[in-house]
Amino acid sequence: MFVSDILAYKGDRVISVAPQDGLAAAIAVLAARRIGAVLVLDAGGAIAGILSERDVLHAMARDGAAAITRKVSEVMTAAVVTCDPDDSIEHVMETMTERRFRHLPVVRQGRLCGMISIGDVVRLRLEEQRREADALREYITAA
Ligand code: AMP
Repeated sequence: MFVSDILAYKGDRVISVAPQDGLAAAIAVLAARRIGAVLVLDAGGAIAGILSERDVLHAMARDGAAAITRKVSEVMTAAVVTCDPDDSIEHVMETMTERRFRHLPVVRQGRLCGMISIGDVVRLRLEEQRREADALREYITAA
């Protein structure tokens, strides 16, 4: 199974904010969309960073209530790791585990084409396991 299998059911929609947006506006987007991270895109549509709820937590721990007055660019992670639609699910699971994050933008030949989360990966793995178990059950009962 590949990242493209996740995008096949999830689509290519990426929810984003701008680097100069206020943190309060970005938090409102996370809450309204019920997601854990937003991609930060510059005016030209290039990836400028990623902002996750973890970054919000760290900003609050560091700055207290003043964190809410920060800009997204001050709180986000600028060095964004991406994956390719042809990457295997095992590969992205390894990346997420080793790098300790739960979100990966999907980029093919420099073009942003989706965003996957650890929840999407787990869901696909569960479906895969269910299919394997069904196939085994069928094989055993047919024998
Ligand atoms: P998460 O577990 O995805 O909520 O993120 C944990 C930390 O990793 C936060 O500081 C995020 O900004 C950062 N992060 C999340 N996804 C990525 C990514 N694809 N590339 C780089 N940093 C990331």
